Amino acid sequence: MALKDDVLAALGKVSSPDGKPLPQSATLSDVIANDGKVFFSITVDAAAVQAWEPVRARAEAVVRSVPGVTSALVVLTGERAPGSAGPPPRRPQPAAGPRPQAHGSGGPARAGIPGVEAIIAVASGKGGVGKSTTAVNLALGLRDLGLKVGILDADIYGPSMPRLLAIREKPETIGGTRLKPIMRHGMPVMSIGFLVEEETPMIWRGPMVMSALTQMLREVEWGALDIMVVDMPPGTGDAQLTMAQQVPLKGAVIVSTPQDLALVDARRGLAMFRRVNVPVLGIVENMSYFLCPHCGERSDIFGHGGARAEAERLNVPFLGEVPLDMEIREKSDTGQPVVATVPNGPHAKAFREIAARVRDGLAGASRPAPKIVIEG
Ligand code: ADP
Repeated sequence: MALKDDVLAALGKVSSPDGKPLPQSATLSDVIANDGKVFFSITVDAAAVQAWEPVRARAEAVVRSVPGVTSALVVLTGERAPGSAGPPPRRPQPAAGPRPQAHGSGGPARAGIPGVEAIIAVASGKGGVGKSTTAVNLALGLRDLGLKVGILDADIYGPSMPRLLAIREKPETIGGTRLKPIMRHGMPVMSIGFLVEEETPMIWRGPMVMSALTQMLREVEWGALDIMVVDMPPGTGDAQLTMAQQVPLKGAVIVSTPQDLALVDARRGLAMFRRVNVPVLGIVENMSYFLCPHCGERSDIFGHGGARAEAERLNVPFLGEVPLDMEIREKSDTGQPVVATVPNGPHAKAFREIAARVRDGLAGASRPAPKIVIEG
């Protein structure tokens, strides 16, 4: 907390283009300070981005020199001011339809997406635990519950939706400004892999991803959606925290394997979402146990049940378990997710149960707490 105050005090010495101290310019997101790492974004009218770039650079330098700060990431985001004229920045028109909602403690960058009821993140503390596989099958499970679902692949380190959904084409533009998502299994899909080249060096990815992410949220013809499932990058580093802060999330699902190490990582994931006030909808245990395809015997190779116990201990819902199974791997890696291709199989059933719990959790998260009336 103290570090955050020091950062804000230091930012008071940075002037915005109109001369006001930066913290008073109403452009700052919440400032996140964690273990010496500081992140925040500055959101300005798209037409003013150039004038603000030196301010961003100065803010970053000033924050870096605050004692106790080990790294600083300041992202500049251009937003079109409602009703503004001028050169057409690549922004959607102001909302026709439901008003965007603001969520949590963020600034304008966390405004909702018109037409999208809820955005949920699927996250994991580390890579390779089946986060993307879970994201796709969860989305399909939600679709099977009659919901309109979209998938946004925001995994900068290894976008996997093109592989998991066998997408080889690139999205087309509509009228030169908006992007048309790729349709798969009745769901619109976008991947950061379409916008950020694979060769982009990691160091550029953070800043580029923020603008690519904004573009994917705001400049894509998602249509009306009940739920958008976001496949997050694995881990709990700078990029993840910035993203969790920037995207207006209604909730997060954490995927873990039963191994201890993965659970430690999952705990970090949980802490990250709590820090940015995003409700954790629950934990999924993937690769939970192994069912031998030959003899049908079940083996708990990773020490099954760790995630359930951990969820109880941390007081978050346990959403369900998915076995380690060759069919899941083969189908996943050839672009045929099990919920769509083997809809009556046991794996599809497991994912659909998880989807139902997520839906119920979301309903609970947006319902006001019941009023207790004491009659006397
Ligand atoms: P992450 O997004 O966490 O990196 P992926 O979803 O890409 O993980 O999965 C990593 C690998 O594990 C992929 O080859 C995938 O097919 C496989 N996999 C994921 N879940 C399972 C499972 N329950 N059973 C077998 N293989 C799985």
